[in-house]
Amino acid sequence: MKQKKLFFISIGIISVTSLMIGGLTAHAYNLFSNHWKASTNFNYSVGSDISAAGVTSITIADNQYNNPGWYNNAFTRKVYFQNLNSSNSIKAYTQNYKNEIFKTNYGTGESLMVTQRWNSGGNTVEADVLINTSYYWSNESVCPPGNYDLSTVMLHEFGHVLGLDHSENTKAIMRPTFKATEMQRTLDKDDINGYNAINW
Ligand SMILES: [Zn+2]
Repeated sequence: MKQKKLFFISIGIISVTSLMIGGLTAHAYNLFSNHWKASTNFNYSVGSDISAAGVTSITIADNQYNNPGWYNNAFTRKVYFQNLNSSNSIKAYTQNYKNEIFKTNYGTGESLMVTQRWNSGGNTVEADVLINTSYYWSNESVCPPGNYDLSTVMLHEFGHVLGLDHSENTKAIMRPTFKATEMQRTLDKDDINGYNAINW
């Protein structure tokens, strides 16, 4: 099964190494050194060439981060995702203080998606997500052979948007690789722990 590696581009220092909690329990999540201010909105627009079904898949992903009661109320929402319901025609990364999700033919040797974040004064101020159209994307409830589930990979990228780096936990949505047809539209406990561990 072909595996595509996902990666992350940022301006500045990217990540910190894993820490020990209480000297006893190792965790797998990793955090970027920058994140959004707490109690802010991640307002985003989607490309005008993204279908209605695609927008629904994106919404399924952002709802995972919007629901503060998820995982036995262990999840405390700090950033609220909001689709501005406006479209963009972006095809490349631009720093314009607008958060854009856009489709680009990025090449078959490249990542499925790439998130780029811009930081200022220790806080993330913008994040754009590229969807690589060199791959087949599915919005179906069962992902067809040779396709990647848009909602699954978007859930991963939104983790990067918020400040999560890749996790060593193979069940975490923040694991670095996904296979075609693989679906995981919910966060793992490791992802929640990482989110809550961000120094909001
Ligand atoms: Zn990634």
